[in-house]
Amino acid sequence: MKQMCYIGNKILREKCKAIKEITPEIVLIAKELIETMQAHNGLGLAAPQIGYNLRMFAIQVSDEIDEENYPKDAAPIVLINPVITRFSKEKIVLPEGCLSIPGLHEEVIRPQSIDIEALDVNGRVIIEKDLKFWRGRCIQHECDHLDGILFIDRLPSDLKKKHDAELKEIEARFKKI
Ligand SMILES: [Zn+2]
Repeated sequence: MKQMCYIGNKILREKCKAIKEITPEIVLIAKELIETMQAHNGLGLAAPQIGYNLRMFAIQVSDEIDEENYPKDAAPIVLINPVITRFSKEKIVLPEGCLSIPGLHEEVIRPQSIDIEALDVNGRVIIEKDLKFWRGRCIQHECDHLDGILFIDRLPSDLKKKHDAELKEIEARFKKI
């Protein structure tokens, strides 16, 4: 398991580099991503959140929901060089949080469904279509991480302002870690 990087850490604001070759080191980082995601009970975890400027993330949530609208788990997978190839015009509001911004949750509006293309750790092409609910949402959140974007950047300015003091407090609290 790796140490998490928290808001205030510059790596979370960098645009991550594409992975040219799936080396043993990349396979090891994929393992670290899954271990760290699971240790923190996350739905997903992007490489910059554990200190790597690389376009890859782990996810373990499905696009199915139970009777109470809770997300159902999926087998953990690491997606490499992911690209969202389609965003739906329809948007949906869902609450988001982030392991790099502990304690802050807010509703975010994003496209309702997406299609994606990526590689898995074996270099196989993964295509997933019409991903809705939490898998679609989580992948959009993780892809944002690879471009240095955090979910708070997606909030309307008045809502972001409302969380300003809380964000500064979280940043100060996790600075020493
Ligand atoms: Zn996040």
